[in-house]
Order: sequence, then structure tokens, then C-alpha cells
Amino acid sequence: RIRSSALQPMMAVRSGTVSSVTQILTKLQKECATPLPVLRHVADSMGNDMRAGLAVDGASDLKMILSYVDTLPTGNEKGLFYALDLGGTNFRVLRVQLGGIDQRVIATEAQQVSIPQDLMFGTSEELFDFIASGLAKFAEKESGEFQLLQGRKRELGFTFSFPVKQTSISSGILIKWTKGFAVSGTSGKDVVACLNEAMQRQGLQMQVSALVNDAVGTLAGAKYWDNDVMVAVILGTGTNACYVERIDAIPKMPGQKSQSGTTIINTEWGAFSTGLPLTEFDREMDAESINPGEQIFEKTISGMYLGEIVRRVLLKMDEAGSLFGSSMPDKLQTPFSLRTPHICAIQQDTSNNLDEIGSILFNEAGVEAKTEARQIVLEVCDTIAKRGGRLAGAGIVGILHKMEDDMKGLIFGKRTVVAMDGGLYENYPQYRNYLQDAVTELLGPALSENIVIEHSKDGSGIGAALLAAANSKYKHHI
Ligand code: BGC
Ligand code: MG
Repeated sequence: RIRSSALQPMMAVRSGTVSSVTQILTKLQKECATPLPVLRHVADSMGNDMRAGLAVDGASDLKMILSYVDTLPTGNEKGLFYALDLGGTNFRVLRVQLGGIDQRVIATEAQQVSIPQDLMFGTSEELFDFIASGLAKFAEKESGEFQLLQGRKRELGFTFSFPVKQTSISSGILIKWTKGFAVSGTSGKDVVACLNEAMQRQGLQMQVSALVNDAVGTLAGAKYWDNDVMVAVILGTGTNACYVERIDAIPKMPGQKSQSGTTIINTEWGAFSTGLPLTEFDREMDAESINPGEQIFEKTISGMYLGEIVRRVLLKMDEAGSLFGSSMPDKLQTPFSLRTPHICAIQQDTSNNLDEIGSILFNEAGVEAKTEARQIVLEVCDTIAKRGGRLAGAGIVGILHKMEDDMKGLIFGKRTVVAMDGGLYENYPQYRNYLQDAVTELLGPALSENIVIEHSKDGSGIGAALLAAANSKYKHHI
């Protein structure tokens, strides 16, 4: 078959050989390698960047945002609460009826709505109108199981999974969009005000009692059931981590004291960048992204990007070494045509002929791959997933060590739970195993015994509702 030369100015030099494919693979594996010293350097740098970010705003890649969450749900909360979760490709609405200490969560109901692609590039008003109308429709269908306490307005926990400079538990200013969002007119604005205005336009009466990041919501939700939870990590479209910090270990925090002496810090670790093993593919992807130079850790380890990195490697292997022979990799030229769920599916193929890999490549990349090529593709996927999982593990260990340094004995000296959520962690077993391996390698058998890494599914929605309850505007009137 003849390739279209208009689209492929490089085609004249398609004189590649099998050996250039293996050369690219070998180089890739070398550059993506994460032996113990690399992991250790990443973990240490994470700790150092955390300290710098806690000292002064703007002094570090890590923003170390004060969440204003120092009142965690206790279990005593009662009544009807709503949550709205805006994160990546979907938003979720949820209501829960809390029954107090004995009954805890009596009923929940949730609904998921996918966000039309064009709203990710539209105006702030369009996006918030869409969300508020989804919330209004959901709120209309409230059954008798759910009951508002007398004299109260419906209260809402708003999970907003982007970097926000919190100004109180229920207000905060968007610093920047991430994860492919490029909505105009929101940066620098209070996102709760944006939501309130949109709710007003819908004629919807709800009071936002808590504005939380998804990592923070996950931590609060998981801690409601298990008090040993001290860290929460999101590995989905994007990535982030938050943890419980001692107030007196936060130099930049204005004088106020919380009852508990602790608060939750949202690290925004997606922006971390020190000591990462990066390749030409990472650099090119970053340069062509809508946020070049930003979110480098996120671009190396999170779900939005892993498939895209693999795509770039395969394209180069095909251009330089005819990986896919004479079949045209037209589809493969389209950025983000290969997604992380595909590379995950590729890694689940254990058949002799790698037939599943063959059909994924045919359907998603438009190429016919021979068995040897399928094997190479598998190795590329594994290389990128392995690097991502192991670096995420190193990040977690960096946080744990920093915490242990300031809370001697309270982290490694007892059971400590890291609550995990996000589609990447949930659905990609190899990635999950690489992450766990790195944590165990770094901590050693003795310390890792006390560290439990646990999936906390959809904890952030319920967590936000619980935080709305814990921070209810009415709680002082009871
Ligand atoms: C955002 C974080 C968020 C994470 C996971 C990142 O892109 O900056 O605020 O927690 O994605 O959703
Ligand atoms: Mg989410």
C-alpha cells in the first residue's frame, strides 16, 4: 500500500530496520528505568519540595495548599447532604442521608453525567450552567428516603478537582486548569461564586458548605470509616496527594489554631518535577500540550498521558524502523488516539499470538501488527506503566517519610493507611503492582509492614458530602 505523502513527508526515508526498533526500545527502557537510587532521589525530593511549599507560598513546585479542613466528620453528622464532583471526563452528583453515630450512612443515591468535550474548551458560564442544571435535575428527583432537617436549606459539598487556593472551607480561587481543561474566564475566580451564580440561574436553592479537592474528599471519606487513614492519593485522569499535617509544621499558616492541632494539606503533587527520568517523548508531549512546562509528574504517571506517551514511541518506531510494516499508521498520528485503557488492555493479553493486542492495534491505531511487533508494543506499554507506577510509589514514600520526620512514631510505628482512588489505580493491575513494589523496596520489609495501601472507591463524593455535614452552616444552631 502507498502512504499519502502529503500527510507523511517522512515516508521517503522509511528504510528502517528491525534493529532500529530494538534500539529505540532499549534506549527507552534505559531512560525510563527506576532503580532504587532513582526512586530514593524522587522520594527525598518530594519531601524537600513539601517542606519548601509549607514554608512560603510559591517557593516550591508543590503548592501545599491549606484545605481549611480541620473539622473532619466524626460520625455524629445527621441529615440530608448533597455532593457535586467535577473532576475529569465526568461529573457526579450524589445525595446521602446521614443518621448519626449508630446509623452513619442510611441512604445514598448518585448519578454520573459525562461532560461534552466542547464544554472543556468553552466559557466558565457554559460549564457551570451545565453542571448546575445536572444538579437541579437530580435534586428534583428526591425520594422520601431522604429528609431535610427542619428549617434547613439543602447543603452541598463541592468536590472540584483542580488546583484551588482555598480562602475558607467553602470558598477558593482557581489557580489554573489541568487535565486538558481550557475553560475561559474561571482562573482567578472563586469557583463557589461561579457555581452559586449558575445555581441561581437555574433557580436552585443550595448552600455550598464545603469546597474540597478530590484527594481531600477521599481522605475525609476514608477516614470516616478508618481513623488510621493519613494520606490519600488520586491516580486517575490526573494525579494528586493530600495528607494530615501538624499545624505547627506549617510555617506559612496564619496564626489560627484548629482544635485538633492538625489540618489536611493538598500537595498538588502533579506539579512535582525534580529528578524524574524523562525521555524525548515526554518532552515533546509536554511541549505540544496546552500547559507546557506544567504538571510534569502528572504527565509522567497519570491516566491522561500514559497512552499518549506509548503512542509517540510507537509512531517513532514505525517511522524509523517500520514497526508495522507496510500498513499505514494513519490513526496513530492523531494525538491521544491511543488511551491508557487501551495500553492497559494490551497488558492483559496473555494469549500465544497476542491476538487481543493485534485487534486493539487494528481498531485504535489502524495498523496490522505481526506477532513480533505486538511483542514490542507490549514491552513499550510495560515500560511506561512501570515507570509511572514506581514513581507514584516513590512519591507516596516521600510523603510518609516527611510525615514520620515530624510526627515521630506515628506513621511507621503503627498501622497507617494510604487511601487510593482513581481509574488508573483501580483498573490497571500491573501499574498497581509496580507502585506497591516500589513502596516495599523503598521502605524495606520492616517498615512496609505497617503501611497499608488501600483502594477507597469513589470516596471523594461521599467525603465531600460528609465534609459539608461536618462544616454545616447550621451546626451551631442545634
Ligand atoms: C489536579 C488536582 C486533582 C488531580 C486528580 C490534578 O490535575 O491539579 O487538583 O486532585 O488532578 O484529580
Ligand atoms: Mg475524580
